[in-house]
Amino acid sequence: MAETTDLLSNRLFENLTTSWEIALRENRQREVILGGIAAYCYFHESKQLNFETASLIYVRQAIDELLQAILPQQQTGKTSRRCSFCGGTEPKVRLAAGANGLICDSCVRTLGEVFRQ
Ligand SMILES: [Zn+2]
Repeated sequence: MAETTDLLSNRLFENLTTSWEIALRENRQREVILGGIAAYCYFHESKQLNFETASLIYVRQAIDELLQAILPQQQTGKTSRRCSFCGGTEPKVRLAAGANGLICDSCVRTLGEVFRQ
């Protein structure tokens, strides 16, 4: 039973990521954000952490791309971009932009663990 579920989830995730990759290439980031959040909720509810995390990464990627298009001034100051939580800079860490700051992939993981408890 669990094996069948895994197989279905694998196939579902494969289909999702294929469509997200295409959507990102075609500048349809909003679809990736909406679909990614829906997938995140589904995989979270079904306790499939790998898929849950991977869905979030796609959402973050899409948000990053949207923000870079909306806030072009952030691109110019790329060397001064640093994580608002730990101070980490690119390319050592991957940064995602929020409304009032940036967060790195490591801090996203740490916060995820904190909020899960
Ligand atoms: Zn950080």
